[in-house]
Amino acid sequence: MHPLLEKEQHYGAHHYEPLPVVLTRGQGVYVWDDNGKRYLDMMSAYSAVSHGHCHPRLVEALAEQAQRLAMVSRAFYTDKLGLFLQKICEMTGQDKALPMNTGAEAVETALKAARKWAYTVKKVPQNCAEVIVCEGNFHGRTITIVSMSSEEQYREGFGPLTTGFKQIPYGDEKALEKAITPNTAAFLVEPIQGEAGIRVPPAGYLKKCAALCRKHNVLLICDEIQTGIGRTGRFLACEYDGVKPDGLVLGKALGGGLLPVSVFLSRRDVMDVFTPGDHGSTFGGNPLAATVGLAALEILVKENLIAHAADMGQYFMDQLKKMPSPLIEDVRGKGLLVGLSINPRYYSAREFCLRLMVEGVLSKDTHQTVVRLAPPLMITQEQVDSVLGVLNKVIKEVENKF
Ligand SMILES: *Cc1c(COP(=O)(O)O)cnc(C)c1O
Repeated sequence: MHPLLEKEQHYGAHHYEPLPVVLTRGQGVYVWDDNGKRYLDMMSAYSAVSHGHCHPRLVEALAEQAQRLAMVSRAFYTDKLGLFLQKICEMTGQDKALPMNTGAEAVETALKAARKWAYTVKKVPQNCAEVIVCEGNFHGRTITIVSMSSEEQYREGFGPLTTGFKQIPYGDEKALEKAITPNTAAFLVEPIQGEAGIRVPPAGYLKKCAALCRKHNVLLICDEIQTGIGRTGRFLACEYDGVKPDGLVLGKALGGGLLPVSVFLSRRDVMDVFTPGDHGSTFGGNPLAATVGLAALEILVKENLIAHAADMGQYFMDQLKKMPSPLIEDVRGKGLLVGLSINPRYYSAREFCLRLMVEGVLSKDTHQTVVRLAPPLMITQEQVDSVLGVLNKVIKEVENKF
């Protein structure tokens, strides 16, 4: 076994099952292993590397700020945080933002805001607030967040779990209406379920949910940690349904592929429930993260990455759909968030990814049957074509085996 791989296995917890490749360098859509072999990255760190690896202007902004002032905590103001918060509020149309680091922390922030809003504004009786979530959701890995999960493995062995959540089927607005009670604080939903295997709900689903939430004074909170920041061909995936949620969670690509940067955004009356001491994070909103987050948003616009993701995503999906094979059960997604569902009777998605790896394309399976195809947003058409060539080659090879 490779000595570095062995070290990770020996000293590290076994909570991941990586493909056997040791990466040492990245630039744009490409990464290189320790033998100098180049791969096209169709994983993008679960959509956290939308700007491409080591984007030179992002790295420059990071390095420049790191030499000036990196970290002071929220005990003081800085010359960077206000600029970042203004930009993210303006781009999302939200009133206020609360910066955190990882996605899970921003989701926890959303849950705390929703509960306190329910008690102080909606006047739900103490400790009775409910949050409605969807089956198949993925919102992170903390104890409270796995308490919302329908995935047995995420919960099993980690009890006692947090209560106050109700699960409904995804993509079914009638189920939402049925689940709402006078104690419902919020409906937390992903516009497309990423970790569940790139599950796209019926068109108009979010719009109907938004109307129901408005009618019943329930907060609609969209988790766009994976779908946001241009990934689906719009700045936010909820734009496809013309929806402006009451609360919004962003992360992953907001850090420009360099740092963990997340944020919870909301309407003024929701964010105003927080008073000093209610919530916090030592690193949340530090000047280094604020600088990188701001630069990530500016570069997204300057380099026209959102429209480009829409065009490349459309082209990629059209071409994929022209590759009919008994091996492929389904092609789905939006923009450059695409899932290829492999018929498990022929091949496992992991085996498929291992074959792609040998051919110089990196991806990872989700839920045994789906291969994620989510490259950095600046992928060119020639690069898409080369991925299509590799996919075609591997599919033909597997077909010939059966
Ligand atoms: C990745 C993800 C999270 C969790 O983000 P972390 O940074 O891993 O904590 C939450 N929600 C969605 C939709 C995600 O894709």
